[in-house]
Amino acid sequence: MNSETDDYLDGNAAGGELSNIFTIDVTAAKGQCAHCGAMKRFAEAHLYMQAPGLVARCCVCQHVLLRLVNVRERVFLDLGGMTCLILDTSQLLRSGR
Ligand SMILES: [Zn+2]
Repeated sequence: MNSETDDYLDGNAAGGELSNIFTIDVTAAKGQCAHCGAMKRFAEAHLYMQAPGLVARCCVCQHVLLRLVNVRERVFLDLGGMTCLILDTSQLLRSGR
């Protein structure tokens, strides 16, 4: 990786890791950036896969929204870059969970 402009995936790429923690689909959630205030679907975030974890950045201002690091059997999840995360619970009813 040499720059932060063209080596990212979109937020959907975090779906696998996040589904280990959340039963709800976080990539479909909306989050508000703590830096610029943009309210965007998490799937629109710029995702940087950085072993052993991942970093999601705001697609507007590149502020770090979420950090997830796997260390052995623990996951460190930092959501400090978002002022809020709005999850759609209607999908829980649809999937029967
Ligand atoms: Zn932002």
